[in-house]
Amino acid sequence: MTGDGLLRVEDLHVHYRLPRPRLLGARPTLRAVDGVSLSVARGRTLGLVGESGCGKTTLGLSVLRLVEPTGGSIVFDGVELRSLRAEALLDVRRRMQIIFQDPYSSLNPRQTAGDIVRSPLDVQKVGSPAEREERVSELFSLVGLRPNQRNLFPHQFSGGQRQRISIARALALQPDFIVCDEPVSALDVAIQAQILNLLCDLQGELDLTFLFISHDLAVVQHICDEVAVMYLGVVVEKANRKALFRNPRHPYTRALLSAVPARRGSRKSERIRLEGDIPSPVNIPRGCRFHTRCAHARERCRAEVPKLVEKQPGHWEACHFDTSGGTG
Ligand code: SF4
Repeated sequence: MTGDGLLRVEDLHVHYRLPRPRLLGARPTLRAVDGVSLSVARGRTLGLVGESGCGKTTLGLSVLRLVEPTGGSIVFDGVELRSLRAEALLDVRRRMQIIFQDPYSSLNPRQTAGDIVRSPLDVQKVGSPAEREERVSELFSLVGLRPNQRNLFPHQFSGGQRQRISIARALALQPDFIVCDEPVSALDVAIQAQILNLLCDLQGELDLTFLFISHDLAVVQHICDEVAVMYLGVVVEKANRKALFRNPRHPYTRALLSAVPARRGSRKSERIRLEGDIPSPVNIPRGCRFHTRCAHARERCRAEVPKLVEKQPGHWEACHFDTSGGTG
């Protein structure tokens, strides 16, 4: 992950103060994102993976400032987003878009597909009404829909087609950067591949940069150049795709990878079952936050937080030990 990325996130925090559980008790803090640094180079895709509740969606929303960070820095194309207010932020947001997981709920059922795709152009008053209509036709073609489908309503499309409408809407303002938040997890496997291929094609054609959020490593392997693995609000491993999938270092990454069906059967990837659930982000374990589920945990792990360290060129890991058995 290069330091000169289109997007650079440094020590990002998103904490929420919760209501007091008791009248005289302290207000607990939910640490959804707890000091994450990463960068995404222009035209590349960074995959952000982890179990549900690890903070990856909050991180994706906070880099767009759809959720306000409580600490750290977000630099997009050289501009510190956290210092921007109103108009200036809106201008940058034109270049940064999001595709949500669920095309069923993220599209207004009362709007036609054409109106949905045109809405960002209307809001930003881009061009004349005729030019906007022309742009909508272009966008439909770009995502593999027929322009004459613009008068249909979302329920008249299949799940994959609905996600194409979401993608067309995200592309309307010609962004440079898109957060893809689990964009295929609500779709059938066969349709998933079509949408992933579409995203890859669009990336090549339009020089897009993606932050691709997914709990599914098989999907990430298909589309990402670099991968960051999150656990309980922090990144525990990051590397380029090849290194991460060939030589996963962190015990958590290895457990996640061992659950990918296509990888099972080899000695390296026997199924590793994690004990218990991911702890609450309100009550994060001391020391290594993975120690309550790690088969390699020792005394030091319960006392000392492991730093994210570059263990091999470009391959970062937050673990006190080398537990990868010589694979990395
Ligand atoms: S620091 Fe300890 S508990 Fe944490 S991943 Fe490494 S071995 Fe496991």
